[in-house]
Amino acid sequence: MLYEVRFRCNHVHTMALTGQVEERSRKIALYNQMFCPECRAQYAISHTREIPMFRAFTMPARQTQ
Ligand SMILES: [Zn+2]
Repeated sequence: MLYEVRFRCNHVHTMALTGQVEERSRKIALYNQMFCPECRAQYAISHTREIPMFRAFTMPARQTQ
């Protein structure tokens, strides 16, 4: 099912969402709080060192302590 989802950066992207109605609305709510894929890519290129959260998002957490 394709949805027009508005992201935190105010960009609207068409996203394919699957699952039950609650699952889909949960994902939409999540997307509303996230930057869109393009902005995340831009952000990653320019700010890779400053965003621990972004790294946590792209890589599985690896605890070394
Ligand atoms: Zn964006």
